[in-house]
Amino acid sequence: MEKRISGHTGLMGLFGTPVGHSGSPAMYNFAFQHDGLDYAYLAFDVNVDEMAKTFEAIKLFNMRGGNFTMPCKNIAAELVDKLSPAAEIIGACNVFVNDDGVITGHITDGVGFVKNLELSGFNVKGKKTVVLGAGGAATAIQVQLALDGAQEVKIFNIKDDFYARAEGTKAKLAEKCPECLVTVDDLADSAKLADAINNCDIVINATIMGMKPHQDVTLVDKSLFRKDLVVADTVYSPEKTKMIVEAEEAGCKAIGGKGMLLQQGVVNYDLFVGKEFPTADYEAFQAEQAK
Ligand code: NAD
Repeated sequence: MEKRISGHTGLMGLFGTPVGHSGSPAMYNFAFQHDGLDYAYLAFDVNVDEMAKTFEAIKLFNMRGGNFTMPCKNIAAELVDKLSPAAEIIGACNVFVNDDGVITGHITDGVGFVKNLELSGFNVKGKKTVVLGAGGAATAIQVQLALDGAQEVKIFNIKDDFYARAEGTKAKLAEKCPECLVTVDDLADSAKLADAINNCDIVINATIMGMKPHQDVTLVDKSLFRKDLVVADTVYSPEKTKMIVEAEEAGCKAIGGKGMLLQQGVVNYDLFVGKEFPTADYEAFQAEQAK
């Protein structure tokens, strides 16, 4: 690695707090080294009130690109020069790219999710979708499904603080993607949920349920699974949630959250350097490191 760093090395980085646990520096630096690219990626612990200065630094140091994480994704969307269509609808960005001083903000959670579905053989165009959740991941997925031509996005959430966000997403999509039918209902209405799942092509869990320490929970009763239903989870820890295991047992196409995570990195890398992320080699590297 040290041999790679020179007086010309370009800087990329992650901004937010906390960032110490992030896997992004290892991932992108592996790829830069792998592809012989003269960049280095570091994590910077900054809070919302330091973001204006952060943007000055990004421009001063001519950083090519990077990522924003919590709690800085929303303020970043206010500070960039341009926003991708999804980032504009959501009002948040997790990726930036600096083209000759013009900074564009993107949000790639939803893009990564949809790309992973495609790699699993499912194209969202014209499809009826049910999305459980209204938090960060769910909203990004709902917006991307609508932008990519899904026919329906039926949102179900518990009546917590996120419910209003789902209503907001519905209103924004009615304006930006009027051809996509978006509905919002209470997750506790099990008859409505059952009806929506019986009439959809794909059901997606984008809540924290199923994730450790809720790994014994599934929000979809397995009696609703049928062989032609696609079942997808955003949760990647555990790699196979209870919902995914039950969907597989019922003969559904079941797609776990790990692929979404990986595909986000692939999408981001393409935005940063216009190259395909070396997925297979990185996975082999990770497996070696885990020994
Ligand atoms: P968030 O905190 O923004 O949203 C939490 C969601 O969970 C809300 O919709 C909330 O209403 C719902 N929820 C909370 N308690 C619930 C309960 N008891 N019953 C039903 N719903 C409940 O979280 P987030 O950042 O959107 O993350 C959601 C999930 O997506 C997490 O499991 C996270 O690991 C996963 N995720 C995966 C990826 C990936 O790349 N695979 C990326 C981002 C997030």
